[in-house]
Amino acid sequence: MSIENTTSNFIRNIVAEDLETGKHKEIITRFPPEPNGYLHVGHAKSIVLNFGLANEFKGKTNLRFDDTNPVKEDTEYVESIKEDVKWLGFDWDNLYFASDYFDEMYTRAVLLIKKGKAYVCDLTAEQMKEYRGTLTEAGKESPCRNRSVEENLDLFERMKNGEFKDGEKVLRAKIDMTSSNINMRDPIIYRIAHATHHNTGDKWCIYPMYDFAHPLEDAIEAITHSICTLEFEAHRPLYDWFVKECEMESIPRQIEFARLNMTNTVMSKRKLKLLVDEGIADGWDDPRMPTIAGLRRRGYTPEAIRNFCREIGVAKGDSTVDSQMLDFFLREDLQPKALLAMAVLKPLKLVITNYPENETELLEIENNANNEEAGTRLVPFSRTLYIEQEDFMEEPIKKYFRLFPGNEVRLKGAYFVKCTDVIKDASGNVIEVHCTYDPETKSGSGFTGRKVKATIHWVDAATAVPAEFRLFEPLILDDAPENEGKHFLEQINPHSLEVLQGYIENVAFKDAKARDKFQLVRNGFFTVDSKYTTHEKLVFNRIVPLKSSFKL
Ligand code: ATP
Ligand code: MG
Repeated sequence: MSIENTTSNFIRNIVAEDLETGKHKEIITRFPPEPNGYLHVGHAKSIVLNFGLANEFKGKTNLRFDDTNPVKEDTEYVESIKEDVKWLGFDWDNLYFASDYFDEMYTRAVLLIKKGKAYVCDLTAEQMKEYRGTLTEAGKESPCRNRSVEENLDLFERMKNGEFKDGEKVLRAKIDMTSSNINMRDPIIYRIAHATHHNTGDKWCIYPMYDFAHPLEDAIEAITHSICTLEFEAHRPLYDWFVKECEMESIPRQIEFARLNMTNTVMSKRKLKLLVDEGIADGWDDPRMPTIAGLRRRGYTPEAIRNFCREIGVAKGDSTVDSQMLDFFLREDLQPKALLAMAVLKPLKLVITNYPENETELLEIENNANNEEAGTRLVPFSRTLYIEQEDFMEEPIKKYFRLFPGNEVRLKGAYFVKCTDVIKDASGNVIEVHCTYDPETKSGSGFTGRKVKATIHWVDAATAVPAEFRLFEPLILDDAPENEGKHFLEQINPHSLEVLQGYIENVAFKDAKARDKFQLVRNGFFTVDSKYTTHEKLVFNRIVPLKSSFKL
């Protein structure tokens, strides 16, 4: 697989050492998403790390759906996650579902009961919280804690058989209510949930808790290095406890790393789902979403995302990455690939009054200024064109060198034109600019007679294709001081989407396919939107503007 190597980091060092010392002959990692939403760029960091390590050290990576919470999970999410992992450029060695192990997990829970290490508890959720204690205060033992093994076995089986209502009973590990680590204070192993599971249907009405299920899943699959985010660090003693007390043969090692946080976005499936449910986003693949599906629709490339994930590195401390850093890698990737073209997003009609009527010439214009191999294309040029509204000012401000009455500019790849006149509508807005052109000044003709201070782009009105252009700003304004501490739904940027109706030169676009990438002169990198483009209408998403001030 042509996936670039991982950069050095502390997890890679652990893996390398384990192979060197012979602790493992082969490493097995896993990427274990819960299918309760679409993947986001934070998951990409975990994917790049897990698959990257296995690729580099010739090990294996499992894609495992951690589907232990039937209420929130759905096969739509399972399918989208598979698509996203593949699109990022990775292929799993095995595909598993945690729910495949429900029988084995049940058996291991029974084993814990038989060993006197688990008990059925009747406390309500509220009582349980009360009994749990705090960081500074030890917990209290549940009155159910000393039930006999027989009674526990009987109650647990009846839980499984559906004799109790949701929340009426739970199975808990019997560890230590005075532990300084709250996670060790008799955590819940199983809860009752009368819910239909996307995989196991109505077979089960008890479901294992994450802290119990996850180490068992890892051990069953003989995962060697179980990589998770930092918030699970304090759960590690519990992870190890379950592996040991459930007498698992294979012993996985949990290693924690810092999760990816980014400015101007939210990075949690639960929150992203809210943006979809509230209609703030037009779906999980809204181009403003940090989901992999959103980035894909926006026009981001897997290469740029992978390079970004490698560059941010793997650390032990949480930090927030500037979202512009991803754009940096994107521009780097798109620059040589994207086809150059001209489009006018806010059109203003320009008529060249001394250019022959009913004549069209084809001008040869380069496809990519940075890549000669991209060749040239023939762009139609005639008497009536469109230019950007911002490229004309009737009364120019200081240092404005573009078009204004009496001034001459170059039309990119074409001729010098000089503004002679304007036409206005009833309310005084300029709706048409009249110019004359100088045939001597044709681009590439070597004309040196005089210079102009500006070059502006244009499209030919007769042949250009009308198109919609969608420009994006961050969906969330988390860096504005007045937004600090607010709920993210109160920080929604009201101007995150701008929709413009313009024109694009026809040549390259008659067959523009969704996800084709273009560099539209001065306007940025764009791709064809896969959702709104129809036979009648071409819709472009701006992937990213051409420049940013961000430096690596
Ligand atoms: P979310 O809150 O978005 O649902 P999660 O951690 O609950 O995130 P999972 O589906 O359980 O999502 O995650 C699958 C894997 O991706 C886990 O190993 C998790 O640690 C990792 N992961 C999730 N979010 C990030 C992130 N922001 N940065 C790095 N890794 C992440
Ligand atoms: Mg989760």
